[in-house]
Amino acid sequence: MTILGWARKRLLSVFAAAIACLFAGCASLGTYNPATGRSELIFITTPQEVDLGNDVHQKLLKEYRLSDQAAETERVQRIGERLVQVSDRKDYEYHFYVVEKDEINAFTTPGGNIYLFTGIMDKLTTDDQVASVIAHEMGHCAARHTVKKYQAALGYNLLGGVVLGQVGGEGARQIASMSSQAVMNLVFSAYGRKDEYESDRLGVKYLRLAGYDPQASVEVLEMLQRESDDPGGLAVLRSHPYLSDRIEVVKKEIQTAEESHSGI
Ligand SMILES: [Zn+2]
Repeated sequence: MTILGWARKRLLSVFAAAIACLFAGCASLGTYNPATGRSELIFITTPQEVDLGNDVHQKLLKEYRLSDQAAETERVQRIGERLVQVSDRKDYEYHFYVVEKDEINAFTTPGGNIYLFTGIMDKLTTDDQVASVIAHEMGHCAARHTVKKYQAALGYNLLGGVVLGQVGGEGARQIASMSSQAVMNLVFSAYGRKDEYESDRLGVKYLRLAGYDPQASVEVLEMLQRESDDPGGLAVLRSHPYLSDRIEVVKKEIQTAEESHSGI
């Protein structure tokens, strides 16, 4: 078969899979994800996702400076490593960074890179609270929300990469050719409400399994709510909306976890 013929056949099978997915709800397609309990159609492989993450990291370093507070960075890495042990996703190496910026935010990029701004670190008073921010971000990694967001944003051009089996390479090239501003817009674009709830629930699970106090999640969300209500506050919370609903979701999740582990 010519390469063109092979590519056409591969493209047809991708479309056939996509159409089957529409009708079958993806139940029999994709890869089962233990974090979400669903099968997911992810075109970007883990090594390709890591490549994407490296490209985004280089772009981030042009826009932001990493904190030079070694003790604070080591603290975040120590807490992060403890949470990695209980993550549903361990097929890549996680990296934890503290970014010098007076803004109350944390975010995740493809490939397991988790960033906390110094602005949120200043508001977190305990290791459990730091852990709750990291555990939530780790939820986005494990549920593959992050890679799905990039997959969607890179869009139809990825299909060509699917045909050639070079999705991540193509995606990384697209990221590399985007302006820093465009990449930053992608980095800080919001997840959907369902994704936030799912990451909150996973965060509670990881905190509990790693021996941190899940109640710290409620404390952090309440802090975010106070800050977002403060008109003079520093908070840029558009990537973490629906705070009062999320507080209820987290409280319920903590209660459910306690009941199912109390031995009754
Ligand atoms: Zn989130």
